[in-house]
Amino acid sequence: MLTSRKPKNIKYHNQRLILALLRSQEVMTAGELAEQAHLSVPTITKILAELQARGLVRSMGKGNSTEEGGKKPELFALNGAHRYVISITAGSERIKCALLDLTCKVLDKRSLPYTDGSSYESCMDDISALVIAACEAGKLEEKEICGIAIGFEGIVDAPRGIFRFPIHNQAWGRDLPVKEDLQARLPGFTGITINNGSRFAGYAELSEHPEYASCRVVTISTGTSTGGCVLENGVLMQGANGFIGELGHITVRETEEKACTCGNKGCFETAVSPDALCSYMQELEKAFPREKEPAADRSDSCDYEKILRLAAKGDACARKAVEKSIDYYSILIRNIMLLYDPHIIVIQGIYTLAGDFFLKRLQELVKQSPFFHIPQGLSIVFSGLDFDRAADLGGALYSVDRYYEGEQLFEEI
Ligand SMILES: [Zn+2]
Repeated sequence: MLTSRKPKNIKYHNQRLILALLRSQEVMTAGELAEQAHLSVPTITKILAELQARGLVRSMGKGNSTEEGGKKPELFALNGAHRYVISITAGSERIKCALLDLTCKVLDKRSLPYTDGSSYESCMDDISALVIAACEAGKLEEKEICGIAIGFEGIVDAPRGIFRFPIHNQAWGRDLPVKEDLQARLPGFTGITINNGSRFAGYAELSEHPEYASCRVVTISTGTSTGGCVLENGVLMQGANGFIGELGHITVRETEEKACTCGNKGCFETAVSPDALCSYMQELEKAFPREKEPAADRSDSCDYEKILRLAAKGDACARKAVEKSIDYYSILIRNIMLLYDPHIIVIQGIYTLAGDFFLKRLQELVKQSPFFHIPQGLSIVFSGLDFDRAADLGGALYSVDRYYEGEQLFEEI
């Protein structure tokens, strides 16, 4: 959050503000930056000179001359090649790795199945091997990498770098000192940070929507696993134990036999999972057989994407199935409203395929009781990011932001 106005921090604040503005546009002139930052052109010129000397910003040549025919202004952009970041997502079956520059452009992507999925040590070795391979592919040395973000599925105590509970790899044990163990395997690297993967994916929304950095945002992501994050003025909330954002394990139905991976019953994750959606569809098709339907349009096997696309197109049966999931979304969102009262809820993941019908129905349900019927109090929107992109981007953006916040911006040169 760019609000610090203490005199000693003004220079630091202004430098970060210019970096944030440059991220939102491909190129900007000193005049445009001055206008948006509410600073004078000479101040901006001085800051740009410092950032250029540090290699964080570069000149992109001259732009078009002004309408009055004045001289052509110089254009500035972030120097993406100043440093690089690595973003890793350790999912339930594979470990994915992306190398990105400081503008979050992906330069290399690779992934590995776990050598031994039941062994934590083996997972740490696999992650280290991916980091080394990504550096080799980019021809980069350790010191050129300013951050390595690793997203896991489960409860992560990010500030301490401890993976409290690997929900999909429970054989690994508990309270795993991931940051320490990776640092031991990757001694030349700095900026290793771990978090819950859905939290990182939620953080990625800040790249598309810089305005989210000045309000309260909750993201809900649904796929093979379900999670989310709470962003308060651009800060990714963690909680005392790393629980914030584990929305998949909020109880949304009382009558449920099937246990969730967390050990409880009635979790949101089990109620809206791809398997659950397919079972709603199969029950409906059994009750209302569609004999005239061509075989290709029936959902005999579990093809949740097809159900969601059919719902988007207006298929009545698919919509009824998706509406069951929407009921559970509305219960979750009411709980979220009572806990966090966000300005915006961003839906990430598979349900974005269901189209406007999903959002319209969800908004109606959430506001159905007078208690929750507060005009303009909440907007529920779909993410514009593909979920794989969000996973890569979130960890990378988080690392880039921590790098820009670091002390190197204070140091005299
Ligand atoms: Zn659960």
